[in-house]
Amino acid sequence: MKAVAILGTALIVVLTATADDEKASPLDELRAEADRVMRMPNVTMRRHVDILFTVTDQLLAEGLTAEAERYLVRGLEADPWRLNYQLVYAEMLQDQKAEAQARERAELVYTYSEDEDQIDHARTLLGRESPPTFAVMERLPGDQPTVLLIPFQGAEAWLMRRVQDELLAMLDVPVLIRQLDVDVPPHRRDARGSELNRLRRDLVPIMQTDEMQQFLADLKFSVDDLREEENMYRFMIHVLESTYPDSVESVLQRYEELRGLNPQWHTDDLLEALRGGVDPYRTDRVAYVAVTSADIYAGDYHFLFSSTPAHGSIVSYHRFKADFNRELPNQERLVRRTVKACLGPIGFQFGIGRCSVPVCPRAYPNSLREHDSRNYALCTGCATQFREVLAQSAD
Ligand SMILES: [Zn+2]
Repeated sequence: MKAVAILGTALIVVLTATADDEKASPLDELRAEADRVMRMPNVTMRRHVDILFTVTDQLLAEGLTAEAERYLVRGLEADPWRLNYQLVYAEMLQDQKAEAQARERAELVYTYSEDEDQIDHARTLLGRESPPTFAVMERLPGDQPTVLLIPFQGAEAWLMRRVQDELLAMLDVPVLIRQLDVDVPPHRRDARGSELNRLRRDLVPIMQTDEMQQFLADLKFSVDDLREEENMYRFMIHVLESTYPDSVESVLQRYEELRGLNPQWHTDDLLEALRGGVDPYRTDRVAYVAVTSADIYAGDYHFLFSSTPAHGSIVSYHRFKADFNRELPNQERLVRRTVKACLGPIGFQFGIGRCSVPVCPRAYPNSLREHDSRNYALCTGCATQFREVLAQSAD
């Protein structure tokens, strides 16, 4: 019954991942709870710190600024990396004419935040000018090798600009950003699909057992049929009904809850949209790189960082963000991760193959950890190839 044991383990993982509900409480109850949290030692308080910020928000909504400040300051003492609340505090300090302190908080957010709205807000508080918006897509004159970055699906402008600067310094060719109006199709996979894909891959080693072959035969399925999400779903239910009938109802309910969560876009859809948008303007010797904030995948991969079949590349920074990885915000890290992810695809478009030096940013990454462990600079071989290709004049 090894097969059933694996299936059982996979399902327990699914079932224990149930989200906890939050109840709305009136302000007085919340405040009493927040007061209790504020009496806790710092380490314990940190775990319950959310309530301090919730009370802050509600008090501010009621116009009770002085009282809100008390909770806000305690909240930031326990968890100073809540950059959105550092902005709230910066505004309070500004109102109190504590200019230097207000600027210090705004500067902190401006330097570290990975979030476009927070950065814009901080910039306004600092009284700095907004950078110009990106030019729209055009046909580039001449035949100079060029890298053209295209923000896709709400890719953040600050990040696009930083990646542009870094690539420019690294590759010594023009790196431009152009806006492109394209209709991107809806996502094809969500948390339910990802979970089914994970389950299917977990079952691969035991699919040839008699037990599993019988389950397949019952449904007149081949192993390949399970690549279809709905077939995998039916198969799972069939196995469960035969092995853990009592769990069927709760598993079905859990899978319903996963619908629409964590959307993932198929790279084919995005690359097709990119091709459609770029083709009217396409010129030779330009590498077209769409950068997206959305999570991407293809085939039975759980996710991808990039894809470059031909005619263009899609690079996703979704899994590079601090929020996704439960890390502290760090602009520098996000920029470097994204730049490293762009170097492989840009090279492919200029005819440079995948690199076999494991520490080169153009080597294939299996995980974010591998991606992070690579050098930032290109290996000698890749650097030489880039120099040669980019220096060639087009004949
Ligand atoms: Zn290399």
